[in-house]
Amino acid sequence: MTSALALLGGKPVITEDTAHFSWPPLTDQTVKAVLGQLNESISIYDRSGVIAQLEDALRDYFGVRHAVLTSSGTAALHSMYAACRVRAGDEIIVPAYTFFATVTPLLHLGAVPVLADCDADGNLDPEDVARRITERTYAIVVTHMWGTPADVSALRGLADEHDIRLLEDASHAHGATVNGRKAGTFGQAAAFSMNGPKPLSAGEGGCLLTDDDDTYHLALLHGQYNKRCRNELPPEHRLYRYAVTGMGLKHRIHPLAASIALDQLGHLDEHLAGRERIATHLCEHLDDLPGIAAPQLGTDRRSSWYGLILQYRSDELGGLPVERFYNALQVEGCRELDRPGSTSPLNLLPLFQEPGPLFPELEGKFSYRPGDFPRAEMVHNNTLKLPVWHREEDMPLVDSYIEAFRKVTEHYGDLLG
Ligand SMILES: *Cc1c(COP(=O)(O)O)cnc(C)c1O
Repeated sequence: MTSALALLGGKPVITEDTAHFSWPPLTDQTVKAVLGQLNESISIYDRSGVIAQLEDALRDYFGVRHAVLTSSGTAALHSMYAACRVRAGDEIIVPAYTFFATVTPLLHLGAVPVLADCDADGNLDPEDVARRITERTYAIVVTHMWGTPADVSALRGLADEHDIRLLEDASHAHGATVNGRKAGTFGQAAAFSMNGPKPLSAGEGGCLLTDDDDTYHLALLHGQYNKRCRNELPPEHRLYRYAVTGMGLKHRIHPLAASIALDQLGHLDEHLAGRERIATHLCEHLDDLPGIAAPQLGTDRRSSWYGLILQYRSDELGGLPVERFYNALQVEGCRELDRPGSTSPLNLLPLFQEPGPLFPELEGKFSYRPGDFPRAEMVHNNTLKLPVWHREEDMPLVDSYIEAFRKVTEHYGDLLG
């Protein structure tokens, strides 16, 4: 039997050999910024130079009182939890479906992660969160998965009702909004990654945002000891005498990374607008195809489109397994189509099944198992992720991706049996 499908010997839709997607967009201006910084200073101990410029720019962009730059998103999360006074034994409700670094810093503080399931979008489900609140619950942490804001008003309501904290991991969602308000401004504090592929990239870096002065000062004590603490904590602060050592961790960002992020931040809204156009185009065309459900955001939420998350529905394609469908698209040339691996339900990872060998003090404190979070596992298993391009000149490639999807869904019968 012959088939048009490339997997079965036909001609692939996409034959471009060059990279299909690259991020972040580095320009001559980026190079100039980095070289300028290289000549100026490559080690900054206080809130000056490019550190102050980027923190000020982030404060303006998000409309918050304080920003603290860090060496990574993981470090920002660690500082956020420490600054919010998470203690050993505290129960922290976290998404079962997130990147594990949302949660791993909590383990270093001895806190107990209480996983909660997601909704059909892959975002934290407020109803499941509500069921898991106990008298030991200290905070709820939400990740805006793949850039699409979670149901922050319901989560905020729960946090207020139970007098607990809402904290955000906005590492996918720089510039995403709910009713015009930016992700990262809904809780007591928010942490962002600025790692390579994130919507706002420093190459490596992170930041923490908060309106709360005490959270800010504690974040400085956690990861930015000595000069920043001596300069920025008010001398009458109850912890000022610890300014030299702080809590002794060093989470400072590299000035060259800060200069990259400062350059990128100047273009973030333009990048997001470009992504929005292309994501809308992709969703319109892909959602019409059998076997594919594109996200439905409505008018109140704007995503940063860190990824376009399609849900595969094998029942609409005669039970064709997702793996086979995915392979067929790969062979059609959709090299950027991905089935995310490390961003997966946390209950599938050994660390959340048996933390004891790595964290002896957490031995027996929690033990998750496959099957514990059916929705997270279903969403994860059926996720096909596309990057979202932002330039008009990417449109022909975007259209050929759509064409490849159309071709495979039209000929899916050839892949059965
Ligand atoms: C990338 C990421 C992190 C970790 O950030 P790093 O900068 O890589 O340390 C944490 N949470 C989420 C949701 C992420 O995507």
